[in-house]
Amino acid sequence: MDTFTIGNTPLQQCIYLSERHQCNILIKKEYYNLNKTSKDRPAWHMIQNAIKSGRLKSGYTIVEASSGNTGIGIAQIAQQLGYPCCIFVTKDCAREKLKLLRQLDAQIFTCDNSNGIDDLLSTQYQAAEYAANTPFSFFTDQYNNPQNPIAHYRTTGPEIWEQCHGKISHFFAGIGTGGTISGVGKYLKSKSNNIQICGIEPKGSILQYYKVHGTASLKTSTMDKIDGIGRRFIPGTFTASHVDDILQVSRQETISCAHDYYEATGTLLGFSSAAVLVGLEKYLQHTDLHPPKDIVLLFADYGDRYLNSLYPNLKEKQVQYDKL
Ligand code: PMP
Repeated sequence: MDTFTIGNTPLQQCIYLSERHQCNILIKKEYYNLNKTSKDRPAWHMIQNAIKSGRLKSGYTIVEASSGNTGIGIAQIAQQLGYPCCIFVTKDCAREKLKLLRQLDAQIFTCDNSNGIDDLLSTQYQAAEYAANTPFSFFTDQYNNPQNPIAHYRTTGPEIWEQCHGKISHFFAGIGTGGTISGVGKYLKSKSNNIQICGIEPKGSILQYYKVHGTASLKTSTMDKIDGIGRRFIPGTFTASHVDDILQVSRQETISCAHDYYEATGTLLGFSSAAVLVGLEKYLQHTDLHPPKDIVLLFADYGDRYLNSLYPNLKEKQVQYDKL
């Protein structure tokens, strides 16, 4: 890791997965962004657009609701550009992410999302309220800001298309705000409508139901916790028509998959990346319609952010970054 920029992350074949599934499997390694996540892209686009349009001025405080990666991206860019920033996180936010937010001088507010995002105690509600009541502040609002999917439409999608020279039959990514899958999906579909766009979410999340039935339903009372993905509301940044399939995976399957992958390859997985792998396995077991040939998996971050929750037996100094 010696290039620390936003975008232009590597796309590399995974030999282990390609052999295992008998097709060409490439990984878009988003942890080679500046702050080691895909969320640097929307963070940068949202801030740049707000500056250009005059909504974010010098001295303003940047406000965001995020349980980690977007918050880290925003805090880092805010620090670089000299803006104070406030990040509203959930009480179960990973310790590693909180540590990073503190190092980036973000003011952190801890909230409770267990009663949904309309609840007075939720991150989304509290951040919006704070921004509305604080003069000289700007709410980046990743769940509704069109710059979130636009960032992926303008950068991640074209990078993938160019890096694989148009040889792609399937694209898989986790769904949180839906910005990644909607932006990349829209771009790849504009190149070839045959490319299958597959999203992954935890059991209990509602976007699969929404994709199939066109309405939201909270059939289950709980959702499996998989960091970064899964929603109990329909984000404004998610466009179902850019997505072909949504697969659901459990937390337990995801943890087992991360451990198996580590044993086989020596490489750590971010929580949502392990979920993407579980989703891929499920998809491959059931697909006759669209035989996969060239699959791109987006890995949104790396396992060093989840040592406490995913790899409790590993110490920080034992962590190896994957080799390019
Ligand atoms: N994986 C991780 C680790 C994330 O932080 C996020 C963003 N919450 C996602 C996947 C989902 O990305 P998006 O918000 O673009 O759907």
